[in-house]
Amino acid sequence: MTAQRIGVMGGTFDPIHLGHLTAAATIADRLRLDTVIFVPAGEPWHRGRQPVAEPEQRFEMTRRAIAGDPRFVASRVDIDRPGPTFTIDTLTDLKQARKESGGQATDDDAWFFITGADALAGFMSWRQPLGILGLAHLVGVTRPGHALIAPALPPGTCTLIETPGIDVSSTEVRDRIRDGLEVTGLVPASVADYVADHGLYARQPS
Ligand code: ATP
Ligand code: MG
Repeated sequence: MTAQRIGVMGGTFDPIHLGHLTAAATIADRLRLDTVIFVPAGEPWHRGRQPVAEPEQRFEMTRRAIAGDPRFVASRVDIDRPGPTFTIDTLTDLKQARKESGGQATDDDAWFFITGADALAGFMSWRQPLGILGLAHLVGVTRPGHALIAPALPPGTCTLIETPGIDVSSTEVRDRIRDGLEVTGLVPASVADYVADHGLYARQPS
């Protein structure tokens, strides 16, 4: 096994959409990543509101959404770990699993944690931000409507990458489905089909 350049993209993915996929693909191109690991959160720590879809449903939508890009994989580490999801644990678990399967060559892996401009702005309030930077290089990516600004971090720990960006959020997707609108062009067809088949995000009968 040879050393790899590995991107990690965490999120609630409730549901995963083309903004997530395009950002990850663009960063993978720019940074020549061998793989991007998508990691649906178990319980997001930073929300008052918990996800609408079940963890297994968000994982399944993620799995379907990434099928078209051979660089993309999905990981269960965060949905299998009880309690709120913290990025420090995500990266620790992913690196441990890779070491167990890959041995010494993995010492030379390069890890990148990819985050949109909105999430990046709050980075210093995450659990153990400096610990995270010891496990992965932080990569901030354009999210339309949010300024792409690096937090005050030690030099050389964070890279900002401007992309054309896709202006979509999971909230917008959920709202459109609730209102009976199409989500073509916002989520992959495989995700739209899953949502429809499982009646996810639909208006609850009153
Ligand atoms: P919600 O509306 O439920 O908060 P979201 O669209 O913000 O959903 P998240 O799962 O919260 O999606 O985001 C996961 C990660 O993806 C975060 O780092 C976020 O900044 C990034 N991200 C989300 N949407 C985009 C987008 N359109 N472009 C770039 N990055 C994005
Ligand atoms: Mg969000």
